[in-house]
Amino acid sequence: MNANLSNTRVVRAPRGAELNAKSWQTEGPLRLLMNNLDPEVAERPQDLVVYGGIGRAARDWKSFDAIVEQLKDLESDETLLVQSGKPVGVLRTHKGAPRVLIANGNLVPHWATWEKFHELDRLGLTMFGQMTAGSWLYIGSQGIVQGTFETFSEIGRRHFGGETAGRLVMTGGLGGMGGAQPLAATMAGFNAIVAECQPSKIEFRLRSGYLDTQAPNLSDALAMIEKANADGKPLSVAVPGNVIDMLEETQRLGITPDVLTDQTSAHDPVNGYLPHGWTLEKWESMRESDPDAVSKAAKESMARHVGLMLDFEEKGSIVLEYGNNLRAMAQEAGAENAFGFPGFVEAYVRPLFCRGKGPFRWVALSGDPEDIYKTDAKVRELMPDDAFLHTWLDKARKHIKFQGLPSRICWVGLGDRHRLGLAFNEMVRNGELSAPVVIGRDHMDSGSVASPNRETEGMKDGSDAISDWPILNALMNAANGATWVSFHHGGGMGMGYSQHAGIALVADGSAEADAMIERTLWNDPASGVIRHADAGYESAIECAEEFGLNIPMPQR
Ligand code: NAD
Repeated sequence: MNANLSNTRVVRAPRGAELNAKSWQTEGPLRLLMNNLDPEVAERPQDLVVYGGIGRAARDWKSFDAIVEQLKDLESDETLLVQSGKPVGVLRTHKGAPRVLIANGNLVPHWATWEKFHELDRLGLTMFGQMTAGSWLYIGSQGIVQGTFETFSEIGRRHFGGETAGRLVMTGGLGGMGGAQPLAATMAGFNAIVAECQPSKIEFRLRSGYLDTQAPNLSDALAMIEKANADGKPLSVAVPGNVIDMLEETQRLGITPDVLTDQTSAHDPVNGYLPHGWTLEKWESMRESDPDAVSKAAKESMARHVGLMLDFEEKGSIVLEYGNNLRAMAQEAGAENAFGFPGFVEAYVRPLFCRGKGPFRWVALSGDPEDIYKTDAKVRELMPDDAFLHTWLDKARKHIKFQGLPSRICWVGLGDRHRLGLAFNEMVRNGELSAPVVIGRDHMDSGSVASPNRETEGMKDGSDAISDWPILNALMNAANGATWVSFHHGGGMGMGYSQHAGIALVADGSAEADAMIERTLWNDPASGVIRHADAGYESAIECAEEFGLNIPMPQR
């Protein structure tokens, strides 16, 4: 890892309606960059690591300071270029152009490996941006909780007739994203047992309210769940230790979980997955001294891990990969039939993507939770018939503790995103909200990602590995004039496995923001509908027809 990292300073976004930059269009990215490193938000802020293994917000502290300085000075006709977490240029563009353009971790395909990346990272030339770490739109575990809730709810409907009470989800990993699993599972009515090898992560999730409790071992966790279920409540319990040990113990006890998945950072075999039988100390020191040995041991453990998951599938568990590339890493270590169970997008999320539905989100720059509650009410008003969304908003209000700047995520699609965005901008204009909001989404969305083991796994026309789509998405969003646009490599699944694009828009109440929001929040989900219609998905073709999208060569 690059020098000039570890630093003990504490970063937190400014709050309130006073500007630190020259306009809200630059104050937005400034606050969101800082918010990504808020100790309430980031996993290892001292190393600039936001989430997902080594997903960073800036290349090093010097670059962070330089980005902050540039954002404070940026004029409304200038654009800041950020190359893998380092500000490399400010160019005169025009008022309607993006204020920041970001490219993170991109490598020419033949060189797109972890080995090459680490070599360049050590030289201080690049940075792993994950998805929303390096594009400054991470909102803590809430960012994934609704998607995970949607997935678990769909599993409940499809496999258990909606009867999830008393049923058990087992999984691993309580990091930035994985930490959403226990809350999403209990929201969907399941119990959850999660193995996590780092006690500090368990403490973080208990503190932030995403996890109910912890137990010293599996038997105690099961006993706690039995008791809670007798009282009519679902319960989430963390079990400290290696996930493989927990699954082997589950086998010994003769238990078959109803649902089995995993969210360790398997996509990064050097930094993200504790090899079986290793102590945390050995893991940490070997990562520096012999990363190749760590990677080899981690992949061998993943092969064993996937073997256990396949055994449970045979016994009747619903098994799925939760977007961490575990199956591919296990396959590299020789696991047979590693792809014998599906990924979550192919199995549960694609129908949503076909309608441009994905993890739409917004952040209150004021820092005032009331601003988010007012936008929640606006969503209900504008989408009165979406009962599932209303349930989500009720549960989110009750269970989600904000991390850093208050924010909300709602999975909505084409035809709704721009309506909500325009309404929020109106609320800023008329003073209902106490400051502007930033609107955006995860890179894991309908039209913004190519990732053959996750978002584009098993596409109907075989176009899984075609990455023209996210590139078109990023180009189009720059043309739309979104406030900032990013294009990354490797997020979610690791180097060589994914390419993806992000957007963020500052709704500052202006007429210019109205125009930007209307264009971007229509075109962005529309590009997802077009991508899926082109692949031949019937529901995407119907959605395109319903909304009158101009598709010159329709698939029927
Ligand atoms: P993270 O690095 O913050 O957390 C991973 C956690 O796994 C850590 O707390 C680590 O201690 C724990 N862990 C590692 N090896 C372990 C083992 N053998 N046993 C028990 N615990 C172990 O990562 P994150 O942000 O939580 O993301 C997790 C994974 O999910 C990543 O691969 C990420 O790319 C993927 N992801 C999926 C989605 C999605 O939409 N499904 C979204 C974002 C990220």
